[in-house]
Amino acid sequence: MTALLAAERTALSLLPAPLLRTLPAAVAENVRRVRAGTGARIMAVVKADGYGHGAVAVARAAVDAGAEWLGVTDVAEAAALRDAGLTERILSWLNPAGVDAVEAAAHGVDIAVGSVEELRRLVADAESPLRVHLHLDTGMSREGCPLDDWPELLRVARQGRGRVEVVGVMGHLPCADEGDPRANEAAVLRMRQARDAVLRAGFGPLLVHLAATAGALTDPATHFDLVRIGAGLVGIDPSESIALTGASRFTASVVHSSSVPAGTPIGYGRTHLTTRPTCLAVIGVGYADGIPREVGEGASVEIGGARHPLVGRVSMDQIVVDTGDALFPRGTTATVFGPEGGAVPSVQEWARWAGTIPHTIVTGIGARVQRSIA
Ligand SMILES: *Cc1c(COP(=O)(O)O)cnc(C)c1O
Repeated sequence: MTALLAAERTALSLLPAPLLRTLPAAVAENVRRVRAGTGARIMAVVKADGYGHGAVAVARAAVDAGAEWLGVTDVAEAAALRDAGLTERILSWLNPAGVDAVEAAAHGVDIAVGSVEELRRLVADAESPLRVHLHLDTGMSREGCPLDDWPELLRVARQGRGRVEVVGVMGHLPCADEGDPRANEAAVLRMRQARDAVLRAGFGPLLVHLAATAGALTDPATHFDLVRIGAGLVGIDPSESIALTGASRFTASVVHSSSVPAGTPIGYGRTHLTTRPTCLAVIGVGYADGIPREVGEGASVEIGGARHPLVGRVSMDQIVVDTGDALFPRGTTATVFGPEGGAVPSVQEWARWAGTIPHTIVTGIGARVQRSIA
């Protein structure tokens, strides 16, 4: 396979060196930007394989840069981090397949509990004390316990003392990417009420956490004791309020090039006809590698220091770009996206071209794309 998801200094020698960062350096820079705006601790959220960048690599880089917690969505993801030697506290929420309380305790994983039923099951199953964070529904109607059930949750937690240890209270913001603190007011209020109830029930000290990247960057009222940063680590700010550093570069090779006359049809359905004599380059990546098939006007890749537009449909394994007067030999590197700007498209641009969010671009990179970490 010719494609490569990399953060290598060598990938594009045409660009000025100071603009290039290794993955750990980019993650560290992003952690520092978050740190500059909060006194709260930082949890590095590395679910979905570190947003497509490699969970262990992103976790290590974030921890080296000062993150004190790691966050995942199930115990298997947490176990992989432990196997890689990471010793920080890890919180797992969601746990779609349920939690094996014994396994979670064995790996030293904290579990977020979003319902009375889940907590009852953990109390029944735990053999050694399991650390839990009570997860409040702060307006998403997704995971999280409704405030109405909170008193019952606390009753079960009190009865389960010795088997479960309440160490945290957690919520998640529905609208933090609006960059408008008023959008978060109701959630912050609910969070305070829920925390106070937990303290009154005799638990504490508590680690209270609500904000993800957008809240961390835009609204200090949401920070409490810890902020959970996922997208921000790899350079995505959902609030688009500050410039973070992209942590990856996606390159692929020209596999074929040709000069064609005006009126040449390109790709499935012959949806594009060349309007003038031009050169084409076929790049060896397609939707199976994460190039969104839905891209519209503007989608392009960088080759030889300039942008060249995609023409015709995205195929499973290939795209075709119009390179104008330039004929690029087989093996020439094309950059699909990278952090440096200019002719190199960003992940954010791909998201706009595809009518989606940057998260789906990075988590959608295909399994056959080689990952290399620099
Ligand atoms: C994914 C997730 C995060 C991280 O969100 P980002 O916007 O990527 O920083 C934080 N908290 C919860 C509950 C999540 O599911």
